[in-house]
Amino acid sequence: MDRKRTVLITGGSRGIGRQMALDFGKAGYNVIINYNKSEKQAMDIVNELSANEIACQAIKADVSNAKEVAAMAEKVAYGPVDTLINNAGIAHINMFQFDKESDFDKVMGVDLKGVWLTTKAFLPGMINLGFGRIINISSFWAERGSSTETIYSAAKAGVNGLTKALSREVGEYVTVNAIVAGLIATEMNDTVPPDALIKIVDNTPVRRIGRPEDVSHAALFLADEKSSFINGALLHVDGGY
Ligand code: NAP
Repeated sequence: MDRKRTVLITGGSRGIGRQMALDFGKAGYNVIINYNKSEKQAMDIVNELSANEIACQAIKADVSNAKEVAAMAEKVAYGPVDTLINNAGIAHINMFQFDKESDFDKVMGVDLKGVWLTTKAFLPGMINLGFGRIINISSFWAERGSSTETIYSAAKAGVNGLTKALSREVGEYVTVNAIVAGLIATEMNDTVPPDALIKIVDNTPVRRIGRPEDVSHAALFLADEKSSFINGALLHVDGGY
């Protein structure tokens, strides 16, 4: 490609998103990170990449809010955005019978509607370009179901369905894939009890939990121009769990 690639990563301020921002920057992409609450962490990434002469911008937006997502698309300073990584997500652990309607709306709002809204905002630009990559960060709980995480599991199952359906509509120009991640060591799992972690490692043939780098590596692969025949895939990055 004769122009620089530009990636927008939602939830790029921490965890897996942070790792992807650093790795895509090193791989030569312009990097736009979205964040909601963690402004300092987002600015630290901008400063780190800028110090290495990598074009980087941080944009605040709650991905569950249509107005904020539309405003984010207007603020993009580099571009055109040809790669969108729908990574922003929240966990929610509770017994089903104690979940409230407001919990449902919040988790679905960020984890599923956020993917839909952000894709709506950036897909048209990719179709105009005649090239694009959309990579959705899903979870192994989408397929297996996590007890005490029914809303999260359902939201991520929705992400898998959205990925497959949209890949059929736009695959001629834009590939749409999901990374189905296993348990990854980030702040999201700070409250997972040690015995639950041990159980997961016991059921993981590679005998460890995942690292943000594992997901980032897969995202770089899917974003590559040469990955043009991979579309509608659910790429499992879970150590074979
Ligand atoms: P994390 O460390 O908790 O980071 C979550 C990121 O999402 C933060 O950058 C946060 O930004 C952002 N975010 C949350 N709500 C947002 C909102 N309303 N609008 C915009 N950004 C928002 O979690 P992580 O482990 O890196 O998770 C990243 C993705 O991987 C999520 O979709 C998660 O479901 C998925 N995943 C994680 C695991 C795992 O085991 N960690 C496994 C499978 C899938 P602010 O702090 O700025 O709000």
